[in-house]
Amino acid sequence: MASYPELKLCIGGEWRSRPGAPVLNPFDDSVLGQVPHATRQDMDDALEAAAQGHRAWSRTAPGRRAEIMRRAAAILRDRAGDIAHSITLEQGKPVGQAKVEVMRACDMIEWDAEEGRRAYGRVIPAEPGMRHIVLREPIGVVAGFAPWNFPISSPMRKVAGALAAGCAIIIKASEETPAGAFHLTEAFLEAGLPKGALNLLFGEPDAISSYLIPHPTVRLVTFTGSIPVGKHLATLAGQHMKPAIMELGGHAPVIVCGDADPAKAAATSVMGKSRNAGQVCVSPTRFFVDDAVYDRFTEAFAEGAQAVRIGSGLDEATQMGPLANRRRVEAMERLVADATGRGARLLAGGERLGNRGNLFPLTVLADVPEDAAAMQEEPFGPLALIHRTRTLEEAIGKANALPFGLAAYAFTRSTGNAEALMAGVECGNLSINHLTASFPETPFGGVKDSGYGREGGTEGLSCYTVTKNVSHLIEA
Ligand code: NAD
Repeated sequence: MASYPELKLCIGGEWRSRPGAPVLNPFDDSVLGQVPHATRQDMDDALEAAAQGHRAWSRTAPGRRAEIMRRAAAILRDRAGDIAHSITLEQGKPVGQAKVEVMRACDMIEWDAEEGRRAYGRVIPAEPGMRHIVLREPIGVVAGFAPWNFPISSPMRKVAGALAAGCAIIIKASEETPAGAFHLTEAFLEAGLPKGALNLLFGEPDAISSYLIPHPTVRLVTFTGSIPVGKHLATLAGQHMKPAIMELGGHAPVIVCGDADPAKAAATSVMGKSRNAGQVCVSPTRFFVDDAVYDRFTEAFAEGAQAVRIGSGLDEATQMGPLANRRRVEAMERLVADATGRGARLLAGGERLGNRGNLFPLTVLADVPEDAAAMQEEPFGPLALIHRTRTLEEAIGKANALPFGLAAYAFTRSTGNAEALMAGVECGNLSINHLTASFPETPFGGVKDSGYGREGGTEGLSCYTVTKNVSHLIEA
């Protein structure tokens, strides 16, 4: 198995070493390596390289672009085992989940690569001698900012979207989990991407975003992360009239209807909640469970949660790894204490395990009152909060009560309930009877404070293009 990579910046197709900060293993707090921090000169060079890269890449035939992108995906698939190992070391998730993440990132590249060939325009009917042609052109150089929870698939969403549309991108990936973005950049270079079409930076997040976003070379901003940081970056983008894709936090409700199979819904929920230890913007979190199935669902969920094997992500038997950083452990401790202090019943987990690394078990709280802090703020960790409801209308009202609206889920066998959920739940992505919120071919994103713009699907790709109308009065 390959060791953790020696991390570098990538500017104009060249690798650069810089002093930086340590990268920690969240399982045992050991130091894995050093992440380089970009200087102002590095940022200027990346902007210049991206401008040149954009000229070359936007003029490359779409079929050729797709070929290079598919080659990058093939390289990553070949290396999936080694890359998953790096991701588990730096982020903590079980190595099987890390491998699924790498494969998902490849699926995104392949789908976007093909869809980029279909950025069709339109011809609008006009009077004789006049022609109106609508073109969809690559928007220009993109500045992307990716978080620590999905080290390869989150930066890949942005890189694949930008490249498929014919744009160059500067990606600032997470300093806490940098290896995923490093490996993806390496694969694109080896696949033959023109120099400068993809540039990789790490550093002090605010120093980089506050320099890149206002810079005239940058034409689009894309960010995945927390709502406060998203609002800060969206404000900056707005001040400089830059469009932005904001994929921010959520607090996903799960409505379990009275006609659902409680055991099946609970088993699915245990798996969904333990994925990436709940550090997912679409993690199922607020469970609004109908009175008719409440006790059976709650009992089955608690039993399932207690059986989840937690430990080192490198151990094949592990089902849930450590939390990615100490901040998340502190947040879980605070939210559990607050909820139990307000009368919630703790049925599983609830306390950090050991005193090294960030192990925190899958935690189930029942009868959680609506005023508990965890019901209001995104836990971004392995907390399942169960709350009793008596009608579907009540459950939908409570699901919509927060200022978030990213993913939402429901379990029901009734078409009537499904229709009411579709019409009533305020969210960008609703999944019924399963807990997958996004696929490469479907648009993903939020409403309300969860952000705007979409990633994935044709809607996602269109965010990386700009519409130009050409109106031609034809002279003989
Ligand atoms: P945070 O608010 O400090 O940072 C969130 C992300 O934004 C990090 O990746 C960070 O590097 C980046 N960031 C922070 N300031 C920035 C700036 N000025 N410019 C550019 N990037 C910047 O929170 P955190 O402790 O790292 O993560 C916890 C919270 O973040 C969670 O509660 C969750 O809401 C959110 N989060 C969301 C996602 C998601 O997929 N939507 C992913 C990771 C974190």
